[in-house]
Amino acid sequence: MRIEKIELGEVTIPLITPFKTALRTVDAVNDIIVRITADDGSVGFGEAPPTAVITGDTKGSIRCAIEDFIAPSILGMYIAELDAIEEKLRGCLVHNTSPKAAVDMALYDLWAKAQDKPLFRALGGSRRELETDVTVSLNPVDEMVADSLRGVADGFRILKIKVGREGLRDVERVEAIRRAVGPDIRLRVDANQGWTPDESVRIIRAMEDRALDIELVEQPVKAADITGLHRVTENVSTPILADESVFTPEDAWRIMAMHSADYVNIKLMKTGGIHEALHICRLAEQYGVQCMIGCMLESKVSVSAAAHLAAACEVITMADLDGPSLCREDPYPGGPVYDGPIIRMTDDPGIGIKAAPCFL
Ligand code: MG
Repeated sequence: MRIEKIELGEVTIPLITPFKTALRTVDAVNDIIVRITADDGSVGFGEAPPTAVITGDTKGSIRCAIEDFIAPSILGMYIAELDAIEEKLRGCLVHNTSPKAAVDMALYDLWAKAQDKPLFRALGGSRRELETDVTVSLNPVDEMVADSLRGVADGFRILKIKVGREGLRDVERVEAIRRAVGPDIRLRVDANQGWTPDESVRIIRAMEDRALDIELVEQPVKAADITGLHRVTENVSTPILADESVFTPEDAWRIMAMHSADYVNIKLMKTGGIHEALHICRLAEQYGVQCMIGCMLESKVSVSAAAHLAAACEVITMADLDGPSLCREDPYPGGPVYDGPIIRMTDDPGIGIKAAPCFL
């Protein structure tokens, strides 16, 4: 089975409510979709979101990376020689992790289809279900409380609360949500790099003093400030999760070896796909570090690739894969089933996505 054709399309799906973090506001998923066709007619799908503020990738750069660099490097190669293809994919240009991820997952889709197995099984996994949190966007407190209650009413038992714009006032936000949802809902707090290290320690200790029972705090400080991240981790008892600080396996190794964070958030759009994400999972096993699987604002193609990875890796103990449930519609037949907080894996070969509207 050889790579015969790589095509690009686009998907636009409105969100149920705008997605707001300390870094951006977005009201629709507008992503590039990749379809790779093999010489036996089988197809693999991938997806890349243009998350300029985090990965630096834009729609134009994603198209250019795939059309002008990646496609000419890998066309004609054998799917069975996945490691050799991955070497070309990574060697033909640096950075550009989202276009690499989109192509990588389409290749893994084809690789698993060639074995007639769902991808999570081809990767050696057996988990049938994942439970994801749901994101509560950064808004005035009343709105965040209402959104939290809606998430709980929709069946979610874990909320990811976006903060990071108002320093110590973020504590009040989280306290209002804790009071509204009661003690049984797990709360994750994501500051998206919004605090300084000193501020982080003050805010997290204040949440501890008020017994808000926070499961973890994600990326309190700037991505590049690994020393600051380390200082926060050492000075609070709430577990700290590194997100924007970890793109590559080397980043993950540095954080794990120095204990600059307690957990690592793996996203395919940061690693450049499943191949490198598996590398981070192996490091996490060695260091005994639990991982979260996360996503950007993505629809079902790439979130499902991430779900397969999580179903295959025991070290991924937390899922933040709410992309599809934030979307107003699901334009793709097939793939894992998104049933509120539960993601159910199916036995369809590959990732399971059967078609994408842009190629019909
Ligand atoms: Mg995050």
